[in-house]
Amino acid sequence: MLISKNSAVYFHYSLSDETGNVIDSSTEGKPLPYIQGHNNIIPGLEKAMEGKASGEVMVVTVEPKEAYGERQDQMVQQIPRSSFQVEDMKVGMRFEATTPNGAVSVVVTDLTEKTVTVDGNHALAGKKLTFDIRITEVREATKEELAHGHVHGPGGHEH
Ligand code: ZN
Repeated sequence: MLISKNSAVYFHYSLSDETGNVIDSSTEGKPLPYIQGHNNIIPGLEKAMEGKASGEVMVVTVEPKEAYGERQDQMVQQIPRSSFQVEDMKVGMRFEATTPNGAVSVVVTDLTEKTVTVDGNHALAGKKLTFDIRITEVREATKEELAHGHVHGPGGHEH
């Protein structure tokens, strides 16, 4: 069967950035499962998957707006160091920040004696992403999977 809305799809991938650096990949022997049409994966990849079959191999390049969005300068903020209860602050530390739009994961990108610079952009925001894809299985999602919005069983949710 071909991938369409509500297909459960399993695929191997290797994700690289514009310079060809591999950022992420599926674990050896364990394809990533998702349900087509449920925003489980980025929009650009979901579009490329539509109509494909098990066994297909493809390379998909996705612009930031179809991936994790553009970087937003207002997501980078300097916060007084005194507002953190952390003794041993380090660049690279992650925190949950409470914002008017809900909880956002931020990473510390710079430190001075008085201020902490945090960046709430997604690590892949602003990046053009290239996926090497190999589709390994396509089937109908079960009623239960559709109700939950994710794939169950090996590689998916175990519950
Ligand atoms: Zn579930």
